[in-house]
Amino acid sequence: MASLIVRNVGRLTTWHGPVVERAAVVIRDGVVEWTGADADLPAGLGDVPELDAGGAAVLPGFVDSHTHAVWAGSRREDFVGRVSGADYSPHGISSTVAATRAASYDELLALTTERLTEMRRHGTTTVEVKSGYGLTPGEEVQLLTVARQAGGLAQLDTTTTYLGAHVVPAGRDRADYVDEVVGSLPAAVDAGAHWCDVFCDDGAFSLDEARRILTSAREHGLGLRMHAEQLSHTGAAQLATELRCASADHLDHVTEDDARALAAADVVATLVPVVSLYSRSMRWSHARILRDAGCTLAIATDCNPGTAWCESMPYAMQLACLAMGLDVETTLRAATLGGAAALRRTDIGHLGVGAKGDLVLVSSDHESDVLGHLGTQAVIQTVVDGCPIGG
Ligand SMILES: [Zn+2]
Repeated sequence: MASLIVRNVGRLTTWHGPVVERAAVVIRDGVVEWTGADADLPAGLGDVPELDAGGAAVLPGFVDSHTHAVWAGSRREDFVGRVSGADYSPHGISSTVAATRAASYDELLALTTERLTEMRRHGTTTVEVKSGYGLTPGEEVQLLTVARQAGGLAQLDTTTTYLGAHVVPAGRDRADYVDEVVGSLPAAVDAGAHWCDVFCDDGAFSLDEARRILTSAREHGLGLRMHAEQLSHTGAAQLATELRCASADHLDHVTEDDARALAAADVVATLVPVVSLYSRSMRWSHARILRDAGCTLAIATDCNPGTAWCESMPYAMQLACLAMGLDVETTLRAATLGGAAALRRTDIGHLGVGAKGDLVLVSSDHESDVLGHLGTQAVIQTVVDGCPIGG
């Protein structure tokens, strides 16, 4: 927790009132104490370090509310096969599970810390990290522990999610495995998990299996989230509504009825546009269905080796804007306030007085350039808890 005055901000977005030009932000002990015009900076702030933004636009730090950042190995062959159009069989999640199980704790910690550091370099200040490449109780707990430790090393606000229900491991009986996932919930809680997620889809877990796992997770005090309606329409969005999940993610096959139900139940709709590109499904229209139904939207990277090898929130935001058709403000809100809502946090995603001192300096004097200028480093500096990092 640090104190910092960010001065000479070209345009300041706080999500409380209009953008302030030539602005300043005062962070005291990691918390936003004051924002306004630089010329109105209060006197008597004491001996607080100053950061000159050099006219850069400043936004609240990005909240990446859906990642699978703990893995080992590569899915290079899947990628090469997919883009060559050759007849190939994807190695899929099971190959990543094998490589992750084969890696040592220290190897996983180094790989994960590197990824989270890269996320922070692109402006992420809060990240959700799922397990899901261990698929035994012991391995899953280890991945949750790695995620928490890596988050600390990368200086990111990190929350972890137990995703034992990612896929049924090869050679396992489904019913036995679902029992094991349910039986592992206390260990996941002990390992610091705040959330339980289920990949509910054709080829993954059924509605009944998801309902059982998530209902039990709630009894253990975990918050609920779901991979829903990604590969097919299964009714997962309606289940997310029934269970009052914090977030339903993907939603490529969502219907207008589903979208209205999600909005009414205050389930955040998390968009992961990098997956639509990377998997070459090229499905984008669900974003506007969800927006038009009044859903709170979040944007996340879904950082994972097979379908979204991407640590950059600006890249995900550019796709949400340009491919999914969201306007600039909707996109920026979804990447900040929306992610916060998906994690049920009110202290992040905005820069109101009392918010966490997490912000990004954009490599431009206008925040819309994060979306409009492709292929560059969109963020020049990230501040977490009032500590400037990188640059
Ligand atoms: Zn995912």
